[in-house]
Amino acid sequence: MFNQHTKKTYTLNTGAKIPAVGLGTWQSKPNEVREAVKNALLAGYRHIDTALAYGNEAEVGAGIKDSAVPREEIWLTTKLDNTWHHCVNKGIDSSLKDLGTDYVDLYLVHWPSSTDPEDKSKHLPDWDFIKTWQEMQKLLATGKVRNIGVSNFGIRHLEKLLNDPSTKIVPAVNQIELHPNNPSPKLVAYNTSKGIHSTGYSCLGSTNSPLYKDPTLLQIAEKKGKTPQQVLLVWGITKGWSVIPKSVSKSRIEANFDINGWNLTAEEVNQLDNLKDRFKVCGDSWLPIKVFFGDDEEIARHDNVLSVHKL
Ligand code: NDP
Repeated sequence: MFNQHTKKTYTLNTGAKIPAVGLGTWQSKPNEVREAVKNALLAGYRHIDTALAYGNEAEVGAGIKDSAVPREEIWLTTKLDNTWHHCVNKGIDSSLKDLGTDYVDLYLVHWPSSTDPEDKSKHLPDWDFIKTWQEMQKLLATGKVRNIGVSNFGIRHLEKLLNDPSTKIVPAVNQIELHPNNPSPKLVAYNTSKGIHSTGYSCLGSTNSPLYKDPTLLQIAEKKGKTPQQVLLVWGITKGWSVIPKSVSKSRIEANFDINGWNLTAEEVNQLDNLKDRFKVCGDSWLPIKVFFGDDEEIARHDNVLSVHKL
């Protein structure tokens, strides 16, 4: 079995190849993310994930430059903020300016919520993500974005999008929360059935991850002589999605990329697939509309949202 996980890429429905492992940057502060991005690229990462909403694109761009890794060797993803849905062109221009680049490899609609910039408790009255996607599709011709996709889209959002006559381009990626306590098999299967690649966010369980106390995970990690984080990343890649662990620590950035040369057995994957606990890192109560509708039963079964994060 192929076990060079950090060399692995997934081929998107556009033919582009997204590296299986990227560096996440949510909550990476401006004074730490520049160094983190540089360290990641020097450690061999070739995929960086950011967003306008993270407020750190300029530092991400500076970290890329500091690394001296040629831009064309790097897969760079950023995201359209909810309050910019009605001005997609301005959104991408702002991101490109801050990132100091003239294109991104992947531009995602961050959430299926077109939030009113004047009052974030309100949804724009005359706009929805279908209109946003119409604008996203036009961006492809400008060369500013090489691939377009979505994030936090559930099955009902994707069905609405894919069934709309204005949709000519199927999203290349749906970036969603994926870890063994929120595995979302139905949503992942739906993405796959439509040719949409899944990227797993909060793949380690995010800040203060409850997963690190899970006895099954700890047992597998000990048996393999690997860290729980390394096991979680290889689990995600084995399941078929790309993973974007966030760290600002040089040693953890390096350790999270030191995952080649071994695999999880089918039995170990199965054990991790069947952990009983459930939690979600990102809820939707901070948004003006409901976004999560329980595509997978575990979301419906619990209200155990760790914290309400404003992305
Ligand atoms: P992760 O699951 O990547 O976990 C990050 C946390 O784990 C940080 O606290 C980090 O701390 C810690 N950590 C990382 N590596 C290790 C290690 N080896 N040992 C111990 N602790 C470690 O969480 P995120 O929620 O940040 O998700 C990853 C990325 O996904 C985000 O950064 C962002 O890019 C993306 N994302 C996208 C969302 C969306 O709506 N599309 C929503 C949420 C995330 P430290 O930095 O101190 O090492």
